[in-house]
Amino acid sequence: MSTVLVTQSSMPKFEEYVDEIRDIWESRWLTNMGIKHQQLQTELKRYLGVSNIDLLTNGHMAIELSLQALGIAKGEVITTPFTFASTTHAIVRNGMEPVFCDIDPITFTMDVSKIEELITDKTVAILPVHVYGNICNIEEIQRLANKYNLKVIYDAAHTFGEIYNGKGIGTYGDVSCFSFHATKVFNSIEGGAVCFNDLDFGKAMYQLKNFGIKNEEVIDGVGANAKMNEFCAAMGLCNLRHVDNEIEKRRKVVERYREQLEGVDGIQLNPVQKGVKSNYAYFPVVFDEKIFGSSRNEVKEALAKEGIGARKYFYPLTNSFDCFKGRYNVYETPVALHVSKRVLTLPLYADLELAEVDKICEIVRQCRSKTIMGI
Ligand SMILES: *Cc1c(COP(=O)(O)O)cnc(C)c1O
Repeated sequence: MSTVLVTQSSMPKFEEYVDEIRDIWESRWLTNMGIKHQQLQTELKRYLGVSNIDLLTNGHMAIELSLQALGIAKGEVITTPFTFASTTHAIVRNGMEPVFCDIDPITFTMDVSKIEELITDKTVAILPVHVYGNICNIEEIQRLANKYNLKVIYDAAHTFGEIYNGKGIGTYGDVSCFSFHATKVFNSIEGGAVCFNDLDFGKAMYQLKNFGIKNEEVIDGVGANAKMNEFCAAMGLCNLRHVDNEIEKRRKVVERYREQLEGVDGIQLNPVQKGVKSNYAYFPVVFDEKIFGSSRNEVKEALAKEGIGARKYFYPLTNSFDCFKGRYNVYETPVALHVSKRVLTLPLYADLELAEVDKICEIVRQCRSKTIMGI
């Protein structure tokens, strides 16, 4: 039986990568902001349409170090529990307090009508996630940030290359953090970036990713090590040449899914947002067992039986992780809890064959018809 995983990394042709890394043998410069790092930085700046960018080892360090580079690394951060572990961990690992805001049931992003009631005199920032590539309510988040003098750090790990109202998504907020992990729309094997407007933030971040080193003799910050190495940057340079094509292929996969699953009773799909150029990063489906007849877990099992891997992404909520036992109350984010129990992310990657999509949709529809026939 062939297997289909939930995702598959985009890769260039082997020869293309070999060509790209050839000069690394000549320069013997493997890391510490070498030529590939500089090139990728320049090209990504253009591609993402941002004024400033800095490359990092991964998306997680982008978030964790951003909180430090903004000079706010204490106090409360309003965030969402409907995300990958990284978002919440970045806050907690800084000794800060995550305050969980519930999500909107349609976009799964932070419900902006519930932010204001969570603001206290300890609140220093808002850390929303453009989850599944769905854009947050940026205008309202910025209005609240201005009103209460808060920083806004977007977890933009799912929104590589997205454009909102004619501007790159990385231009919004004080900082936007991207991930170039192997499983993302664009990858540099492991990698990440921060996009920002304030040059002082940029200086602070640059030092933080390199041990706090200001110059050869002055180390005036307790930095980490989060530099992107040359081999990762080289992979990024190769993948960037093909990313538009990869996104176009993803679009076709998503359209095929939509044709077959849109309008099925008891199924909720990702919204199509106005003014957004999507990157087709994920295909989440929310199953309402009462109407659909089968639960999310039953659909997952039915797919697994046919060798198809779907993921409960995001489940569990970060505010119910074992490492936080007793610290947070998941019932304070009831919509997020509801969705996390019902959502299943179906396989989606550029080279996923449309025939496989048809097969996946057929299995999903069988889960429904079984219940209709009362079997
Ligand atoms: C992938 C991801 C991250 C972390 O990025 P890494 O590059 O894997 O460190 C953070 N937030 C979200 C929402 C992600 O999906």
